[in-house]
Amino acid sequence: MENKGEINFYWDKVGNRLRNLDKTEVKNIIADYYTNKIKVKDIITKYHLNILSSQLIKEFPPIVVDKKCPYDNEKMIVNLHSRDGLGLSGEPYCPICGHQNSQYCRCENCLEEEKKYLENLRNKVRDTYLVPKEKVKIEELTLRDKLLLAAVLKTGLNEETTKIIGSKLAEGNLSPLADMNKDILSNLVSKAIILVDPESSLDAFTDENFPEAYYIYKVDYLLNVTSENDNHDQLIGMLEYPKSEEFYLEPKISLGFWKELALAECIEFLNCRMKAVGFNFNPGKKTNLVLNNLLNNFSIGQIWRLIYISVAYAVQ
Ligand SMILES: [Zn+2]
Ligand SMILES: [Zn+2]
Repeated sequence: MENKGEINFYWDKVGNRLRNLDKTEVKNIIADYYTNKIKVKDIITKYHLNILSSQLIKEFPPIVVDKKCPYDNEKMIVNLHSRDGLGLSGEPYCPICGHQNSQYCRCENCLEEEKKYLENLRNKVRDTYLVPKEKVKIEELTLRDKLLLAAVLKTGLNEETTKIIGSKLAEGNLSPLADMNKDILSNLVSKAIILVDPESSLDAFTDENFPEAYYIYKVDYLLNVTSENDNHDQLIGMLEYPKSEEFYLEPKISLGFWKELALAECIEFLNCRMKAVGFNFNPGKKTNLVLNNLLNNFSIGQIWRLIYISVAYAVQ
């Protein structure tokens, strides 16, 4: 039995230069160093050690501490630090697997745990999003779906045309307004025209309500539309560049789209000008009404000019 308070050394890791000495002698050296504060040079002479002064403490055996490694139940050890207090003794570690009780530990066991943890998260994401959903036939798409989808594909489709990249949608200005972007994406997702890619980066899903909730620009999306001949390249071509004739056939609806977009562009420009002169402004219903009315008579370019001049006057 060991006495309480007595230091428990981990002799397996005593340095090579002290290995052949008697344990008591090593303990004496350590006591001379820490307790008696004898100069290192004198200690080396006293014990006839063949060692550089700066190397002495590195030869000391680590101390066994009152913590156990969660993986192999081995008592953890800590290296001794220099007596001037400079240089911390560091974290206790496991002599078998090297584990440290820290979230940054990269020991094999922790890496394995992390892998399992990430696999588990990925499986949850797949369980939620890898549900076979019936593909939407291209004929079933409304004119609005086609317009929105074309915008999404043009902005976010990857080079391989296999998926729509969320970050590209954010960078590429899908639409003039952030709210509009959100509406476009949620609309297409709710109709299962595009699906959240189950292989999206795991941090695209929020911790809360995982994995149902996600960041719309961090996940990627998969196209879930099919055409009769099922030729992928042809399908992408048709969806990315819908025929203008289809829109001419529905002039009222198409004019509605144009107005919606024109309004958004005017609001974007207004926001941009207000920000440029340092005004804090949140356009609401009244602004929309005014701009909508202007759009009946003026082009977007003319309205931009009006906005530019009005904001400049307001500043003056
Ligand atoms: Zn261990
Ligand atoms: Zn570890």
